[in-house]
Amino acid sequence: MTSLDDLPIRDDLRGRTPYGAPQKTVPVALNVNENTHPIPEDVAHDIVARVAAAILSLNRYPDREFTALRRALADYLGHGLDVDRIWAANGSNEVLQHILQAFGGPGRSVLGFAPTYSMYGLLASGTGTRWITAGRDDDFELSPGTAVAAIREHDPDVVLLCAPNNPTGTPLSLDTITAVADAARGIVVVDEAYIEFADPGTPSALTLLEGRPRLLVSRTMSKAFAFAGARVGYLAADPAVVDALRLVRLPYHLSALTQAAALGALAHSDEMLAMVDEIRGQRERIARELEHLGFRPYRSGANFVLFGGVDDPHAVFEALLDRGILIREIGLPGCLRVTAGTEAETTAFLEAIANFAPSTRASAAATPAASTATTPASTPE
Ligand SMILES: *Cc1c(COP(=O)(O)O)cnc(C)c1O
Repeated sequence: MTSLDDLPIRDDLRGRTPYGAPQKTVPVALNVNENTHPIPEDVAHDIVARVAAAILSLNRYPDREFTALRRALADYLGHGLDVDRIWAANGSNEVLQHILQAFGGPGRSVLGFAPTYSMYGLLASGTGTRWITAGRDDDFELSPGTAVAAIREHDPDVVLLCAPNNPTGTPLSLDTITAVADAARGIVVVDEAYIEFADPGTPSALTLLEGRPRLLVSRTMSKAFAFAGARVGYLAADPAVVDALRLVRLPYHLSALTQAAALGALAHSDEMLAMVDEIRGQRERIARELEHLGFRPYRSGANFVLFGGVDDPHAVFEALLDRGILIREIGLPGCLRVTAGTEAETTAFLEAIANFAPSTRASAAATPAASTATTPASTPE
């Protein structure tokens, strides 16, 4: 067997590592921000019926324009969006790849605000786009001033705004998004993978699309919609942007089975999203309890919580894994990230993490240490 180094691989891919969130079969998997509630059985039956019908015509290529699916996605999004403003692909990762294929590429750059979603850098390298990271404000917030200064400095072709941000959970204000859209000369993507978990009343960047043809809002069915295994992500943007993405997608990229399954899930969107309030409640519970234990949870508008104040994140990660609980090491000093699961999963996590609480590490008489918990010294890119 040859090693990767022996192959005539592209120079810019040499030494790179692939996306690698551990996939382990454990009782409590809280590491990749899935909706951990199973799909309701009646919805599953409807999806099966639709997929079964689609199987009968698998001898033919699927609708290349996935028109029925785009119609359903437009209806789901609302905001007066029409079919010609909708795009979809096999996960929003593929949507983002299409965007970088069309608007990035060799000689072009894409800017993100670290720490942010690890796939952005990988998608940049896969498409030969230069990946630039700029910093955030205290507590991973991103103010209009900080964001605009980075755009002035780097003049990127594409800007990726993750709202709420993964892995920090930080919500992003529309003020920052509009300031970025005004300052950037290129494409501005708002990745709203977790927007359904934002506090009620939080406006979506969809409200900003009108009159901003270079603003793109991507969404996914992988998180709130409990459909990660089906691989469906989508986008709303100007019809001309959608035309640009048609230039780079592979023909028939969404299989007939994927389209049928997604249509089935969207026909039951209320049921599919029924657990979102409950998950948000568990997120708040995690933040509250972690703070009480002396950890430092960061503000989250997503279905996960990043928390600092962990002495040895790797040791804690391993100790929880020994108890069948998988959370996420994200390379931020003193920090770990946990997905808000079911009530029982959350309880299992909280009971396990309590053994590593800063408040029990400190002297028994110490007052809750939340305000003195450590903040990460630096943020990796
Ligand atoms: C999970 C996630 C996605 C979704 O990826 P899919 O390919 O749709 O499963 C997109 N963006 C961010 C920031 C995520 O965390």
